[in-house]
Formats: sequence, structure tokens, C-alpha cells
Amino acid sequence: MRHAGAHPHREKHTVPTGSESPSPASESPSPAPDSSDQTATVRPMVPRRTPETAFFWDGCADGALLLQHCRSCERPWYPAQRNCPRCQGSDIDIVAASGQGRLASYVINHRESPGFEAPYVIALVDLDEGPRMLTNLVDCAPDPTSLPVGTAVQVRFLPIATADGRATATIPVFAPTSAQEATAEVVTTGVDTTPGRRQPLF
Ligand SMILES: [Zn+2]
Repeated sequence: MRHAGAHPHREKHTVPTGSESPSPASESPSPAPDSSDQTATVRPMVPRRTPETAFFWDGCADGALLLQHCRSCERPWYPAQRNCPRCQGSDIDIVAASGQGRLASYVINHRESPGFEAPYVIALVDLDEGPRMLTNLVDCAPDPTSLPVGTAVQVRFLPIATADGRATATIPVFAPTSAQEATAEVVTTGVDTTPGRRQPLF
């Protein structure tokens, strides 16, 4: 994945088959071993949209990192699910996260994968609001000496598409905050201060 590029938001990327995670770590069963064309044997696809996750993907497309939030526990969670993971309650709303977090852990993958150019960083990011996200780190050197755990990161929204272009989505990835400041034109999320729009509860 050409995450190190200066304009990741302008590029179309493909992602491997798998769950809703943008990370290739969760890709589906292996390609047929008798083929030398890995791209052709692993079907790239975008995250699967479901009734429970539609709000999340719509938010990403609008440049907002949206989380479900339990009114009883007063906490948000990720990934999306129908009920609160703590109290199983259904009294929930949707709030916009700041898009800021800290690098909790990561691996640098040196194997090529459809839609990703090695080496690339698969990361766990702890959002400032609490939830942990499996994601990719972009606009950073894939070098552990420059990526200490705890590095401040900021979300970016990356448009992706299947190889045939029939399906598209926008996925959240993260970049070190220092890189974010250096690339001001990249679309980022944040609190929407437009009057009447949803505001975060934390
Ligand atoms: Zn709850």
C-alpha cells in the first residue's frame, strides 16, 4: 500500500478479502498454490457494509470517525455491534471521535499483499476516547526506530476500491501527528462545529 505517498487520499487502493478490517492481517483463505499470480487468486474487496456498520462507513466517507456510544455506561466502543459490549444495553447513540490516538502496538509486514506494497505497518491504535482500532499506519517510515509505542497519531480517510472498481469505500488509517501537520491538504476528521450537527459527548 503506497501509504508513504504524499497524497494517499487521492489514490485508489485495493484491499484483500477478509473482514471489515482494512488490515491484510485478517485476509481470507489462501490463494490456490498452483498459481503464480497472487493478485488474481486473492479477490480484493472493500469492507463489507452491514446494517450495523453502515453508519461507520458513511462517517468515514464524510471525514468523520463515528463510534457507537452507550448512554448507560457513557462509553463508546469499536468495532460496531448491535448492543453495548459492557452492559448489553441498546440505549446507544453515535458520536464523532476526535480522530486522535496513540500507537499501542504494530507490526511491519514485509510480505506483499494485494493492494499493499511491502513493507507496510499494521497497527493497533488506542483512540483518545478509549476504543482500540486495528488499522494501518501511513506516511511514516516502516522502521521501528522511528515508531515508538505511544506515538501520537491522527486519523486519515483513505478511499479504496476493488480491482474491478465496482465497489468502493473509505477506510480510516492513521499517521503520526507530526506527519499530519506536514501534509495539511490530506483530509482529516475532527469535530464538526457546524450548528445543528452531532457533537461528541466526550
Ligand atoms: Zn453499556
